[in-house]
Amino acid sequence: MESRGIIHRTLYALAGLVAIGICAAAVALLWIDRRVTWESAYVSARNLASVLSADIGRTLHVYDLSLQGVVERLQEPGIAELDRATLHRFLFDRSATAEYLGTIGVLDRDGYLVHDSAGTNHPQVNFSDRDYFRVHRDADDAGLFVSLPYRSRLRGGDESIALSRRISNPDGSFAGVVVGSLRMAYFRDRFAGVSIGEHDTITVFRNDGVVLLRDPYSPADQDSESDLPLDFQRYLIGRDAAFAGILSRDGVNRLYAFDAIDNTPLVIDVALAVDDFLEPWVHRAALVVPVTLALFMSVMAQVVLFRREMRWRLAFERHLENQAHTDGLTGIANRRTFDEVLEREWLAARRERTPLSLLFLDADHFKRYNDRYGHQEGDELLKMLALALKNKARRPHDLAARYGGEEFVVLLPNTSRERAIAMGEAVRRAVAELGVPHEGNDGGIVTVSIGVATAVPRDNDTPASLVEAADAAVYQAKEAGRNRIAVADA
Ligand code: GH3
Ligand code: MG
Ligand code: MG
Repeated sequence: MESRGIIHRTLYALAGLVAIGICAAAVALLWIDRRVTWESAYVSARNLASVLSADIGRTLHVYDLSLQGVVERLQEPGIAELDRATLHRFLFDRSATAEYLGTIGVLDRDGYLVHDSAGTNHPQVNFSDRDYFRVHRDADDAGLFVSLPYRSRLRGGDESIALSRRISNPDGSFAGVVVGSLRMAYFRDRFAGVSIGEHDTITVFRNDGVVLLRDPYSPADQDSESDLPLDFQRYLIGRDAAFAGILSRDGVNRLYAFDAIDNTPLVIDVALAVDDFLEPWVHRAALVVPVTLALFMSVMAQVVLFRREMRWRLAFERHLENQAHTDGLTGIANRRTFDEVLEREWLAARRERTPLSLLFLDADHFKRYNDRYGHQEGDELLKMLALALKNKARRPHDLAARYGGEEFVVLLPNTSRERAIAMGEAVRRAVAELGVPHEGNDGGIVTVSIGVATAVPRDNDTPASLVEAADAAVYQAKEAGRNRIAVADA
């Protein structure tokens, strides 16, 4: 029994380990998978930001070199003597031209356009209200300035940004501005060439946090001109190149990767929607989780079924065990149990040197009872007698048993002869007081004869001698007229 308990506990522990192991493995797998997915999105965002940044940086740098060339040539001595056509060639022939680049113009210190690379004359066109003009007029260290997007007056409202540099007199005072325009279409077409998801965005910021362009454009993100965009704030505060958060008004959680565009006052930001790049992972998790749960449940179900089976089996074994020790008719201990207990109590009494007593009980003229009332009624009477005995043998170690036929015994450990006699008398009286009619018996009611024997076991004695003595006493009781007790000699 004990080793079986250990085996069961080990099996439960193993099953528990398997169940926990399955869950732990699934959780670890999903966690690693999520990290890898996140990591690869991070790498993509950073790569895209750095590729776009390098590309835009190169384009703007080439354009800036053209502006710087014009500034340098304007400071050459003797250009005042050149005629207009030669001056134009001298100023602009080496300037870059490309699809998205507009004309390069030179403004004088009052904002009037005095030269432009297209060679057209725009008399009295004044640009002194433009931000780039004011920036260069008010500071000599603005370097390359990038303006806010504006609608070009020269090209029919095409949206552009201006790239500009200051022209200074030899004494450092303000002499004007050289300015070139870059069509916003440059950025749009550039971004259209890279594949990003529906909720991903690419943003170009100026150093001061002004959004030059957000793609895709969302008017909601632009409605408060005064506040810095949240993502740019986070970029400034953390100096982190990449971070995640809900930083736009559309409430989408995005992974942001920033990259400063070299040699320009611009920063580019690629933002990938977290839900979108995690979607494949969510799909995988949606497969793994139910499969894991099913495995877990099946292991647990096996444990539960196994336990139930074991409990049922143990109960059944206990039932069989019980059956082997009780008498089928009367429900009290049987002969086999009596023999076992007698052996045990005999040894205990010998060890402790205490008296062990035995009552041996035999129904009087029971054969006649059967003959008169039938075997069935005889059985019922046996049950009644068993109950009466059991009610008298109340101490924890007392044992009432059916010895066989209509004979019963009551084993009374640690009980003196006097007490055993009293017990025997009490049992006899209890049966008589039941008053069960028995026509074939003297007195007309059921009675019993009881033999009482007591021993303080010594080394050479056997338990059988106690039974024999009690049995012999019953015989004496019968001889003496029944319905009485007889006591065996010591
Ligand atoms: P006495 O003991 O007083 O001398 O007479 P008796 O009639 O009881 O004699 P004996 O002990 O020889 O008879 C025992 C009878 O008990 C025999 C049998 O018919 C009956 N008997 C034994 N076992 C059972 C049983 O399980 N059920 C029933 N109904 N009767 C049984
Ligand atoms: Mg008998
Ligand atoms: Mg009898």
